[in-house]
Amino acid sequence: MVGRAHPTPVDIKTLKTSKPRTRHPAPKTVFSISLGCPKNLVDTEIMLGGLTNAGWEVTGEAAAADLLLVNTCGFIEPACKEAVDTILDLARLKQDRPEVRLVVAGCLVQRYGAELAKDLPEVDLFIGVNDFPALAELLARPVADGAAPLVHQAPPYAYAGVEPRYPATPHHLAYLKIAEGCGHGCTFCLIPQIRGKLRSRPLKTLVQEAENLAAAGVKELILVAQDTTAYGRDKPGHPGLAALLREVAAIDGFRWIRLLYGHPARITPELLAVMATNPRILPYLDIPIQHGHDEVLRRMGRGYTRRDILDTVGRIRKTLPGATLRTTVMAGFPGETEVHFQALADLITEVGFDHLGVFLYSPEAGTKAAAWGPKVPRREARGRARSLKAIQAKIVKARLKALVGTLQEVLVEGVSPESDYLLTGRMASQAPDIDGQVYITAGTGLVGEIQPVRLTRALPYDLLGEIVEAGEKGKRRKGEKD
Ligand code: SF4
Repeated sequence: MVGRAHPTPVDIKTLKTSKPRTRHPAPKTVFSISLGCPKNLVDTEIMLGGLTNAGWEVTGEAAAADLLLVNTCGFIEPACKEAVDTILDLARLKQDRPEVRLVVAGCLVQRYGAELAKDLPEVDLFIGVNDFPALAELLARPVADGAAPLVHQAPPYAYAGVEPRYPATPHHLAYLKIAEGCGHGCTFCLIPQIRGKLRSRPLKTLVQEAENLAAAGVKELILVAQDTTAYGRDKPGHPGLAALLREVAAIDGFRWIRLLYGHPARITPELLAVMATNPRILPYLDIPIQHGHDEVLRRMGRGYTRRDILDTVGRIRKTLPGATLRTTVMAGFPGETEVHFQALADLITEVGFDHLGVFLYSPEAGTKAAAWGPKVPRREARGRARSLKAIQAKIVKARLKALVGTLQEVLVEGVSPESDYLLTGRMASQAPDIDGQVYITAGTGLVGEIQPVRLTRALPYDLLGEIVEAGEKGKRRKGEKD
């Protein structure tokens, strides 16, 4: 079931606390915060869907909610810290209203459930990554006064697509989670231990869910999984990502279909051919390469070489000229020397990715790499990350500057949180929340519609532009390009 209501985004730092209220016989409103990636957001939507189905109402006001829900990310240490800070912020609201229930869900719980229950007695219920559909039922169970927090961790689960889902994205955008878990064994990553092995969802239920989303008015559908290109590989004879994309692209209603989190070694000619022949599928590829030196890639367990990365990029650019390329890389992996790092920096320069995420290596207990040396001093790793960002900033600056004066299709997203006089939108080359945006300074914007925008100025990672009204499109201004 897919509904398209719009929860109001709320910044936790601006929450007002309220006076104690009368005790409710049963909690009825839920305020939620979803941390981490869009995959986590889908899990939050499933929890909220189950709750609304059971009679709860979603609220954007934490201080008035009967239930506070945090869906955590916990795959690296900074994410764990952010999650704990968020839990503590929400727990403060319970000081005045002890009857409020606080539920913590997700990766952090899967990783540290028992320890959290000891350290955070303010939390009523901890649930792992396999308990989302059961939340409403768990909350309905009677709890004795003063009872210790309950920790619930069910066996591996994969979203079936029939669960109710309460959308937490704007009405024109939705994520489709096509698989759960991961079948790779990257030596720095805890995801397979937290989320389990790869479990692809049946193609039929995905197509059904996509049809429902299109019928509900979604214009941009974004396919997500830990590795979208692994879709179907856990089921011999099962259709893979190319087949799924072909079916989803045939659904009327979507204007843009985007793919995130692909594995550089799995961008197959078949996948590229499907992307090239379906105008609804954006020529946008997100391929986290992680590094650019063969020795580091081997120690990371990535299963490809620098040459493979260059070949993949070459194939993409040949089949999809002008394709947008996004990647993420890591600085400071154990044993990374200056020579290794330079190879990575050179690769970033050579390829010229449109978008680059740079992360500092984080030694996570339970991963192979955490025990390896020699460790790269933190200061050194930070310096390397800064150098990579500086290289990328120059690439982006030149790319965005070249766009000034051109006319682009922009998906209008709404009023900018920074000013009521600005609208924001995104071009096909910009994925939500990670790739920058277009600030619209003039014209009549229709939220959720794709409109022509003339780009007028480049900022470090964003652009400014004006909506071109009907009839204006043929006119040319001084310096304007096609
Ligand atoms: S492919 Fe991604 S999610 Fe899977 S183990 Fe490697 S880094 Fe982790």
